[in-house]
Order: sequence, then C-alpha cells, then structure tokens
Amino acid sequence: MTSQTTLFAVSAVSGVYPQGAQVSVLLPLPVDTAYDYLVPTGDGLRAGDIVEVPLGRRFEVGVVWGAGTGDVPPAKLREVVHKLDLPQIPEVLRRFIDWVAGYTLQPPGSLLRIAVNPARRWVPPAPVTAITASGASLASRGLKATPAREKLLAIAARGQFPTAAALARAAGVSSGVIRDMITAGALSVIPAAHVSAFDALDPGAAPPVLEAAQGAAVDDLRARVGAGFSVAVLEGVTGSGKTEVYLEAVAAALTAGKQVLVLVPEIALTTQTLARFAQRFGGVPALWHSDLNYKARRETWAGTATGDARVVVGARSALFLPFNDLGLIVVDEEHESAFKQEDGVIYHARDMAVVRAREGGIPIILASATPSLETVMNVRDKRYADVRLPQRYGAAAMPKISIIDMKATPPEKATWGRAWLAPPLVNAVNRALGAGEQSLLFLNRRGYAPLTLCRTCGHRLHCPRCTAWLVEHRLTRRLQCHHCGFAASVPEACSSCGAKDSFVACGPGIERVAEEATARWPDAVVRAVASDTLERPSVVQELVEDILQHRVDILVGTQVLAKGHHFPGLTVVGVVDADLGLSGWDLRAAERTHQLMQQVAGRAGRAEKPGHVYLQTHDPRHPVMEALVSGDGVAFIDSEIAARDALGMPPFGRLAALILSGPDEIAVIAAGKTLAAAAPEGEGIEVLGPAPAFMALLRGLHRHRLLLKTKRTIPPQPLVKAWLEAVKIPASVRVQIDIDPYSFY
Ligand code: ADP
Ligand code: ZN
Repeated sequence: MTSQTTLFAVSAVSGVYPQGAQVSVLLPLPVDTAYDYLVPTGDGLRAGDIVEVPLGRRFEVGVVWGAGTGDVPPAKLREVVHKLDLPQIPEVLRRFIDWVAGYTLQPPGSLLRIAVNPARRWVPPAPVTAITASGASLASRGLKATPAREKLLAIAARGQFPTAAALARAAGVSSGVIRDMITAGALSVIPAAHVSAFDALDPGAAPPVLEAAQGAAVDDLRARVGAGFSVAVLEGVTGSGKTEVYLEAVAAALTAGKQVLVLVPEIALTTQTLARFAQRFGGVPALWHSDLNYKARRETWAGTATGDARVVVGARSALFLPFNDLGLIVVDEEHESAFKQEDGVIYHARDMAVVRAREGGIPIILASATPSLETVMNVRDKRYADVRLPQRYGAAAMPKISIIDMKATPPEKATWGRAWLAPPLVNAVNRALGAGEQSLLFLNRRGYAPLTLCRTCGHRLHCPRCTAWLVEHRLTRRLQCHHCGFAASVPEACSSCGAKDSFVACGPGIERVAEEATARWPDAVVRAVASDTLERPSVVQELVEDILQHRVDILVGTQVLAKGHHFPGLTVVGVVDADLGLSGWDLRAAERTHQLMQQVAGRAGRAEKPGHVYLQTHDPRHPVMEALVSGDGVAFIDSEIAARDALGMPPFGRLAALILSGPDEIAVIAAGKTLAAAAPEGEGIEVLGPAPAFMALLRGLHRHRLLLKTKRTIPPQPLVKAWLEAVKIPASVRVQIDIDPYSFY
C-alpha cells in the first residue's frame, strides 16, 4: 500500500502513471464507473491516453481517466494491454464528459463512446502528396495566362493542397484546369510530410462590407474571442445577416489560431452553410455527422485532435470531438428542438454546448431569429448577452403575414378529389405564377396521407409495432410507420371486414398537396420535397440549384425546406395547416409553432421582391396566429413566460422524466408501480404518473412514463439517483432518464 502512495505522488508531479501504478480506465460502454487496471511495462500512461484493455474474454478500447480508485485489490487487477498511437482525449473533454454525465444522469461510458467511436477501429491514415505552385510562371511553362490559371497559381502559392479538388475549391475555379498546369509544370505535386486533410481557411479571404448594426454586432462578438467564457445571443430576423456576422467571429478565432465548432441542428442545412464558408474563407470546413462514412469521421476526429481541422460544422455529437484548442462555439438556430438528442444517450446539445464553452473558458454564440424561451429568460436575467440585428440586410423587407380562416373560406370542391388549398392561397399562387415568381406550399407531413382507413368498417391501418398510423407514400407505393420504419404495401382487402378496394386516404401529406398543385396548375413545375427525398447532400445541392435557377415554380415541402435557405425568387409561402403543431399536449407546442412559422415565413421575399405568407388555420384567434400577424413576438413570448411561470414549468421549475419500456407490458406496469411507491416526496417536489406514454407502443416495446417536477431551487438529479437506487427494476424493463425533457411522447 505504501508503494502505491508514492507512485501516486510521482504521478501528481509529472502527470505520468508509471509501470505498476493503478489507473482507472473509462470504457465506451453504458457503464457508470471506470475500471481499475495496472500500467504495463513501458513509458507509463497519462490521463487521456487511449488504451486497449482486457474486459472479460474480449478487449476494449478505453481512456485513462485518472488514478485508480483502489476498489479492487492490486492482486486481482489486470494490466492495460497497450497505449494506442492516437491523440489523447484532452483534459477539458474529460471534464466535460464527467459534467454532462452528472447533469444528464447518462452513463459516462455512453458519452465517452460518442467521443472515441472512431478510435475503436483505428487505421492510421496514409498521407502522401500535395499540390502547390512550382514557382514557375505560366508564360515560362508555355501556358496562356487565363484568369482561371492566374487565380489558381496565386492561391497555390499560398500553401499546399491535398487534392486538385481542394485547390480548385479554394480558388473558386473548376478542377479541370489543374491537370494541364501540373503537366506543364506550373503546379507541382510534392511529397508531403504532413498534409492536412482539410482545406486551408483564410480569415482574410473575402471579408464582407458590413451594415452599421452588423458592424456593431461583429465588434461585440470579435471582442469575446480570447476573452474567456461568455454567452452571446445573436438575434435577428431571417435574412438580417446572422450568418454573415458570426462568420466574422469565426474569422477572429481563426486569426487567433483557435479552432471553431459550429453546431447545426440538421445536417440537411449544411450545404448552404458550407457554401457560405467557402465564399468567406476560400475553403470548406470539416464536417461531422452520423451519415459520414467511416474514413471521413476518422479524418475529422483526428483533425480536431491534431488541430488540422480548424473549423468543424457538425451535428450534436460534434460537441464530444477531442478539439486540441477550441476557441469559439457557434450554435446556429439555437431554438431548434433537433438539438435535443432523444434516442440512446439523452442530452440537449445547445445546453451542453454552453457547458463545453464554460469548461473551456471560451465564448459561445447562440444564433436565432426566434430564440428559445429558455434563452430569452437567460438574456433577461443578464446571464447571456444580447446582440441584435434589427432588420433584414439590404433592401429586403420582411414578408407580410396573412391569416386564411379555413372556416370562412374553405377550399372549394374540386374535380380531382379533396382540395386543401383555400381560395385566397390559390389566388396568391396564381399571381406569383403570373409574375414569374416562385411559391412554397409548406406542410410538415411526409407522404401522401397521414391516415388510411377502410370506408366500409372504419378500420384504420396502424403500425403493428407502434401506437401510430401507417402513412401512405404513393411515390414508393408503400405504407410506412414514421416511428420505427415498418413498411408494407397497401393491402387489397381490409383485414378487419374483408372489403376489397375500400381504403381511403384521410388528410394531406405533401405528396397529396403536390397532386393538388399539379392538377390546379398543369403548366407549372411542381416539386415535393421532404427529408426522405433528400438523403444525400448532393441531392439537396441539386434541389437548391434548381430552385435558384427557377427550374421549379411551386415547391411543396416539409420543414427541411423551411430553414436556412435563401431563395430570392420565392415570394409566396402558403402554410397548408398552421394548426398542425398545436395539437396534443406539449409544453412547447405554441412556442415551436411560432418559431417554425417565422422560419417558414423567412423564406419569402429575400431580395427586392416583397414576400407574402398565408397561414391556413381553423383557429385564427389562437395567440400564436395573432402574434404572427401582428409581428409582436415579444408579447407572445411574454405570455408564454407567464403561462410557464404560473404552472411552475421550465425554466421556472425543473422536470425529469423516467421512461420505462419493455416487451412485456405487465412487467412495465409493475415497474411503474414500484417506482411510484418509492417516489421522492417533499416541499416543491411532485411526481406525475406512471401513465402510458403517448406512444404507448414503440418499436414493439410498451412504454410508461413518470414525470418528476421540482421547484427551480431543487435540482432533480440527486432525487432521481436516490430514487432509482432505492428500487429494483427487472432487467426486462429499461429505464431511461430524460433530464429537461422536450418530448412527452
Ligand atoms: P441570417 O443568417 O440572419 O438569415 P444571412 O447572414 O444569411 O442572414 O444573410 C442574408 C442574406 O444577406 C445572405 O444572402 C447574405 O449573404 C446577405 N448579406 C447579409 N449581410 C451582408 C453584408 N454585410 N454584405 C453582403 N451580403 C450580406
Ligand atoms: Zn412503427
């Protein structure tokens, strides 16, 4: 035991755990604690080293978390196999993981898994060659001095480029020219000791000329870079130049030699974001999201650790990348609920991004046209700084928003079947078509119809594995469950009454609205767009190009189209069902609808042509509709805040949900009862449930929920921990903890 104490004393000084010392190794598994191992022969280990260790009869890749706990006698400990030749997991990331685990009550190993996943199948990358200027002039190489060649040569002289494509991107020319220049010797291919897999980003490449308000915002944000932790909320209507402005803060961080993380809610959004980066910095940033292939993931992961990746644009999990020297975080569209990770490891990426910034002592920018209520409260309480852009950039005016009362002016009977577009919207689209302008019909529902039922007996087609209807997709001729992916063809006969050809579609999805648009405007080009039609970024790119080049007259789309894109020719936006998000019980239903409608409205009238937005609603007096028409977002937020305050709902109170699920409903119900019997009690503590979840059946699992609600001053985490420790839940029932739940399904 004494020798151990001395060893730890040594480690405290040099940071090295020498041979024979005990270290705790956190494994990327859903486990709550790190396990102790002995340091093997060699140079010792440091905290953050990625190591391979034996676990039972297999091997796992884990991370040295610190000194051993000493829980297991040394004689029983096994040795670390070896340290992998990989970058370390930085101290700040380890601290962050511990913090997030403590807050979300997710196993730290599950969080570590996000952070080290690419390391688990590591193959060292093979750097080879780079392209750069040879130093010879075009003339001396017998090449005619075209603008493209001159530009290429100038850019190539600035450094080394891993591929012709990267050089072409940086110079903004097509890569076809490059081969000739290499053959002629104006560019040369050199062996590169170290070639970054990423484009060089030049903060001075193309700075914008800023408007006064933008300039003030930029000054504020730039001053934060290098000045420690701070949170700035960059608020401005769509088109006010938020992206333009935060790119200047990115430039400041790059100039200071720091790395930058830009979190985006949906990866479909990145196409235009990347284009903006390329324009501004002469190169595209590194990407991070779950659809990347393994090679790209590995490259970005290692690039953040080595520092080659200067800027990462990524989805939620990019927060767990091992950045070497992160200097700025930007959360774009901070209000988006997509930042809340709901499956598997449950955490809110925007909230945790603030924590990551705090742990790293760096600034974070939360950008949004419609900041979340939580963020608004933080601004009002002076915890976050308010940086505002008051109006749209240039001549672009905000669109006019009108309500279409579906009771007063319902869609007229049509020859092709049911219609979903009311006369005022039809007229507006007519006008736009006449003026050579584009229209967007927005409906947040994929497929043809959300419900299919038997006309004879009323039987509804539902998913066998979920509490959900099957959605008909006519394009693919399938019925789909949007929750579990179940798919089947439309049956010929009703399984309930046997009637043939008796199924009817109820309600509209975008395919059905597109059908109506095609019937109404046979000469117009109509395109239906949803997330399932845009799986690949290249498809998104083509679509955006088609819209910009006016190869589409009428777009029918879900929210994939509602955000981030700029379509100057688009002047009419029709929201087919503005009430859609308001049904059902959800704390944030009104807020979300307000945000989404504003986002959709923001697509209209970007350039000189003013836009007009039409909201079809059955409830024109609803506060959300009134706020949208009057444009008084502040009054709306105020009323939402008052409502949440009155109910003690977040951010005035705290919530933690327990979601029980399992294949055996009886066992799930019994577990709910067990938990209810042991529920925490006390002043300012309330437990609701257990009750069947809204999605009582999901992917074949039965689900029940409990909700713990506490006063703001009572953190729910210790209560939940003690609660779960006090009961015995059978292994067949899974208990998921959701701190600050956003979904109540
Ligand atoms: P937001 O992110 O607030 O929606 P953007 O930054 O995308 O706004 O700006 C909207 C449009 O206006 C973009 O096309 C952008 O390039 C342009 N824009 C904004 N500010 C400037 C500026 N200072 N100079 C040139 N173009 C600008
Ligand atoms: Zn299903």
